[in-house]
Amino acid sequence: MTEPVEREAACSCGQLRIRTTGAPSIVSSCHCLECQRRTGSLFGAAAFFPRAGIVAIEGERSTWRRQADSGAWLAFHFCPKCGSTVFWENERLPDIVSVAIGAFADPHFPAPVRTVWTRTKHDWLGFPDIPHHPESPATLVPR
Ligand SMILES: [Zn+2]
Ligand SMILES: [Zn+2]
Repeated sequence: MTEPVEREAACSCGQLRIRTTGAPSIVSSCHCLECQRRTGSLFGAAAFFPRAGIVAIEGERSTWRRQADSGAWLAFHFCPKCGSTVFWENERLPDIVSVAIGAFADPHFPAPVRTVWTRTKHDWLGFPDIPHHPESPATLVPR
């Protein structure tokens, strides 16, 4: 039997860490303006893990909560020392923990299978041939 894949994501300074086991439920990217501001980059990239796939969370964290367009809250957990967002939670998805893909520092991490909020995607940015949603899709995580 093969062991499930264990991964670790960390902030820039390394003190905030989250360990996951198994495959993410979905890997997604988001071009919304909030993700652009949060990351300072052109899009957010997230792996949604089932909460049961979270092995450990270590280190100090601060939390920034904002309201999504749906009205639900999103809680972003970031390192108070270096400021990197490592993972977040969504009121609409109580059984999911989203982890910032970049925090895994793994160029071989599974690619996104869809991209959302392409309405505000930067004009010059090309993107892989995966389903594009102009805004949030009705189904955040396929069953
Ligand atoms: Zn840090
Ligand atoms: Zn977004």
